[in-house]
Amino acid sequence: MPLPDSITQLIAELNRLPGIGPRSAERIALHLVLSEVAAARQLSEAILSARERIRLCALCGALTEESRCDICTDARRDASLVCVVEQPVDIFSIEKSGTFRGKYHVLGGKISPLDGVEPDDLRIADLEKRLESEPIKEIVVALGTDVEGDATGFYLAKRLARPGLRITRIAHGLPAGTGLEFADELTLSRALEGRRDME
Ligand SMILES: [Zn+2]
Repeated sequence: MPLPDSITQLIAELNRLPGIGPRSAERIALHLVLSEVAAARQLSEAILSARERIRLCALCGALTEESRCDICTDARRDASLVCVVEQPVDIFSIEKSGTFRGKYHVLGGKISPLDGVEPDDLRIADLEKRLESEPIKEIVVALGTDVEGDATGFYLAKRLARPGLRITRIAHGLPAGTGLEFADELTLSRALEGRRDME
């Protein structure tokens, strides 16, 4: 007997989420339809409320409910140091390591001609604007360790180069070919401490 349409549809929606395969989607869907209506409603409202309230920080691109995020508005953070990451989630990874006390800038991806991502598709011009208006002395490039991450790092180092600005990259030691989200806190913390100047 096939599953009722509404369950099949729920499974299909869940299956579209990252990290949830067909088996998990099925298990979660069956759990949900057998749970209390109130619990299901609470979950759907939490999803909707988060989606409606969360936006990108106008300055750094982090996830926030305000126009500027908590890190950008925190006067105790070192405004002379800006760490460049690919995605908002990378900020959480670095914050968990507890090593970095500067600010951030989210690129929104990495240069990848094969996927049609050009420099203009990333928030690089926004970063250049910040260099003009903020007391930034060092840019720490913390991108993934794959080919696109490396290429993007070198592109940034060249385009952002200007007198008085140090451009560093986090030390290798991150698993090859991966993003920051897969690195453990100690590895990230060491990678940040061991950062070096880019050519
Ligand atoms: Zn921000």
